[in-house]
Amino acid sequence: MNKIIIAIDGFSSTGKSTIAKQLAIKLNYIYVDTGAMYRAVTYFALENDFIGDDFFHSKKLIQNLDKVSITFRFNDIKGFAEVYLNGINIESDIRTLRVSQFVSPVATLSEVRRMLVKQQQLMGQYKGIVMDGRDIGTVVFPEAELKIFMTASAETRAKRRYKELLERGHNLNYEDVLENVTTRDRIDSTREDSPLVKANDAIEIDNSELTIEEQLDTIINLASHNISK
Ligand code: C5P
Repeated sequence: MNKIIIAIDGFSSTGKSTIAKQLAIKLNYIYVDTGAMYRAVTYFALENDFIGDDFFHSKKLIQNLDKVSITFRFNDIKGFAEVYLNGINIESDIRTLRVSQFVSPVATLSEVRRMLVKQQQLMGQYKGIVMDGRDIGTVVFPEAELKIFMTASAETRAKRRYKELLERGHNLNYEDVLENVTTRDRIDSTREDSPLVKANDAIEIDNSELTIEEQLDTIINLASHNISK
């Protein structure tokens, strides 16, 4: 069976990674969460005081990018690959609201994008991959056989993210989460380098009213059409 590349892009908290992860398991494909890579660089920037509440030493961050090594290692118990920064598992450290608050400014930097895109393209060189992010169908794999663009209302997305963070034991309020989701959407869609836009040939799925099963069925149908070509 020929293997394809499935690119899943969309706004923050549209449930891209939940779907991408399950899709990869069903198809026996590799799953790559590119948001985790931008979050890992952001975590590195926060740890080294290159970014903070009222400053962003972007040049210093860029000068130190050669000290950033991001890898994924599959966790058999969790059933997905976790992200490591310089050999240390930072999977839960990057899922905080603090990292979410700084990741979009970090992701505007072309030097950061260039480094991560190169790595992402290498991961997909043998196809058989599901990759989610913001620029996968437009920049990383413009030739991907299947491109999905996920959308849902900002409130639906903020509620999902809020529930997810509460379940992980974070103490926060809904308004902060909603504010973060809308701010990230704005920065991600308006940045100069690789803004979040729907690729011309992407298929849009609004999942506000769809269950995970319904979304998976739709995408697997589309994928099987491409796989059997
Ligand atoms: O997918 P997730 O919400 O974890 O992504 C975090 C942030 O990383 C996004 O808001 C965006 O700023 C950045 N990102 C990006 N390009 C990607 C994936 C994520 O700019 N391909």
